[in-house]
Amino acid sequence: MQRQSSYADDKGKLYLVPTPIGNLEDITIRAKKVLTDADYIAAEDTRTSGILLEKIGVHNHMLSFHKYNSKQRAPELVQLMQEGAVIAEISDAGMPVISDPGYILVQECIKNNIPVVPLPGPSAFTTALIASGFDAQPFTYYGFLPRKAGEQKPYFEKMAAAHATSIFYEAPHRLVKTLKNMATVFAPDRQIVAARELTKIHEEFVRGTVAELNDYFAENAPRGEFVMLVSPSTAETKKLTWPELIKLVDEQVAQGESKKFAIKKVAQLNNVSKNELYDQYHQNRGN
Ligand code: SAM
Repeated sequence: MQRQSSYADDKGKLYLVPTPIGNLEDITIRAKKVLTDADYIAAEDTRTSGILLEKIGVHNHMLSFHKYNSKQRAPELVQLMQEGAVIAEISDAGMPVISDPGYILVQECIKNNIPVVPLPGPSAFTTALIASGFDAQPFTYYGFLPRKAGEQKPYFEKMAAAHATSIFYEAPHRLVKTLKNMATVFAPDRQIVAARELTKIHEEFVRGTVAELNDYFAENAPRGEFVMLVSPSTAETKKLTWPELIKLVDEQVAQGESKKFAIKKVAQLNNVSKNELYDQYHQNRGN
């Protein structure tokens, strides 16, 4: 077991600092302060971050930390923190670690008892999720999918069966191909959303079926940055019988959920009435 106290003292720690995903006003007051006060800023691309830091008025020493040097760099940064340095880690945009470098450094800090202090802030997938119109609980975030159609397919099959909103990142030049591939797996009425250029002037949400988005983007070449979202499955869950649903409630309870919460969750995920499931559960299991 290990306990971390993030604010016990001021020295020798790693701050994970989110930066804007488009709109510079999304930098938080705290993020700016941490970036200004840190001894070093570890940045994925010092040139890209240099432009951002200049714009938000932060002037500080930068060190490069990216996926190609992370294995060698992490122990060096850890040594600096062991000597008392405060390091603020940023990526090109959004949350460090989320489809970006940082994970190895976080692991290395934990191994060496160096506090890792996360700051809340912008990330493309949470920003897209809250405006998608899909239920945000539960959701699965996949990051970037593999590029080859054959390798993407198992992911789409998983999303098609999932009772959760699925989210992934996609590059604009691959979007049309990916949509074509999705069309071979998803039911014709399955709803998806393409969230484009979030927080920027051309921010746009394209909502519809896979075929509708396929047609739209075949005509309107995708431009900018994209988050793709797939609605949770409802069709499959309607087929579950009462004994099967009761078993699902039992499983949730065995995992430590209260009966009330488990019934609500199973009912919601399976598109059945909470009250009916409650009655069925108590008729079968008693109180
Ligand atoms: N760390 C970032 C985060 O917290 O979202 C993600 C970095 S990942 C290398 C970059 C991808 O995130 C882009 O290719 C795109 O799919 C997505 N993304 C980043 N900014 C975006 C934006 N403003 N609108 C839509 N998608 C965005």
